[in-house]
Amino acid sequence: MFSKILIANRGEIALRVLRACRELGIKTVAVHSTADEDAMHVRLADEAVCIGPPAARDSYLNVAAILSAATITGAEAIHPGYGFLSENADFAETVEAHGLAFIGPTAEHIRMMGDKITAKTTMEMLGVPLVPGSDGELKSLDEARAVAEQVGYPVLIKATAGGGGRGMKVARDASEIEEAWSVARTEARTAFGNDAVYLEKYLDKPRHIELQILGDNYGNVVHFGERDCSLQRRHQKLLEEAGSPAITAEQRDTIGKTVTDALSKMGYRNAGTLEFLYQDGQFCFIEMNTRLQVEHPVTEMVCDVDLVREQIRIAAGEKLGYTQSDVTFSGHAIECRINAEDPDTFAPCPGTVAVYHAPGGLGVRIDSALYTGYKVPPYYDSMIAKVIVHAPTRAEAIARMHRALDEFVVEGIKTVIPLHRRILADPEFQKGDYTIHWLEQFTARPH
Ligand code: ADP
Repeated sequence: MFSKILIANRGEIALRVLRACRELGIKTVAVHSTADEDAMHVRLADEAVCIGPPAARDSYLNVAAILSAATITGAEAIHPGYGFLSENADFAETVEAHGLAFIGPTAEHIRMMGDKITAKTTMEMLGVPLVPGSDGELKSLDEARAVAEQVGYPVLIKATAGGGGRGMKVARDASEIEEAWSVARTEARTAFGNDAVYLEKYLDKPRHIELQILGDNYGNVVHFGERDCSLQRRHQKLLEEAGSPAITAEQRDTIGKTVTDALSKMGYRNAGTLEFLYQDGQFCFIEMNTRLQVEHPVTEMVCDVDLVREQIRIAAGEKLGYTQSDVTFSGHAIECRINAEDPDTFAPCPGTVAVYHAPGGLGVRIDSALYTGYKVPPYYDSMIAKVIVHAPTRAEAIARMHRALDEFVVEGIKTVIPLHRRILADPEFQKGDYTIHWLEQFTARPH
């Protein structure tokens, strides 16, 4: 086992990793920008190293500074968290070239899944079902037209280097295909420096359902069931559940087996998530994230597993030590992402937290780096806390989340807590009757 780990991240996820390290008796090194000198992860870590000015490209994305910090402090491994360098294959490679362990998959697998066409062709070969669409990259507008006719409109043109919902354009019928083709390519070139695009059938009422997996270095892969992340705004998830109100235990077992078979054939190691669109009883793979996800706590609650601890154990060369039949599911969990944003306009709202009081009680977990007097900097993601609840049934989890949000005090800045309250009170949400388009329609309703 490692004796010291550097955490190449900030905010709640840096704290999350730090907590797992503490419980394993591992020393921690925090890195931080000059804007984060007073951050909670810096205060709680055993050592802290300043790696640059506020802009992420000069600090949290500064590979040379992070590696120097690891060398100076004698860290043996680096945990990248999510975002920042977590899905950067060159970073993973550089870390290992310096003789440190990267707490994540191999650079090769990160690269493979970072290119969505390669990801889709790999998964298809391994027997994972896909959204119907083009066979890889579209070479011309004529090809786009032909494939669209074949799979049927509406269709979606997507960037192979895409992420964060960018470089994606819908064509509802043949008259829109030319524009969708050129807009998606231009956006992809500008955002990712790569204008390769592919085409998928546009699903009109899917749910976003993803599977959490862990693999060790010895070909053992298990899944921890699904998360339903259909509640999204501009492709950003806002509220997640485990399990999905739409999936039966049999469906979970079936897709779980398909996925674990595929990943064990690949030799995949560490944590990963396969994202699917689910409609009319069919799972269609869209992408794989080769890292820990923001919403991992809902899975931890229903499976009683510490996913970060598992990631560390795997990176240290330990075996999983359990099989699929040892993974059990209990009750229901919900996570609300609390963003420092206006709940109606979604404008970011950084500033000083005048008063902070976190909820507590049975089945409530708060993952946050906030405290009274903390100044939320304007430079980074607006998510400031995650409220996670666990209860025997979905209805009880909803009631518990309501209760927890009522107790939550964050003064001085605006947050999306009022929006979460409205969602939880909505009859359609309570029935579990929603798709990926539901939240956008809901936020447009007068209230
Ligand atoms: P990104 O990497 O940019 O997040 P994804 O491929 O994961 O891109 O897609 C992001 C979101 O876009 C999905 O969660 C879903 O809401 C929507 N989406 C993607 N593909 C389709 C599709 N074929 N039909 C309908 N919606 C889609």
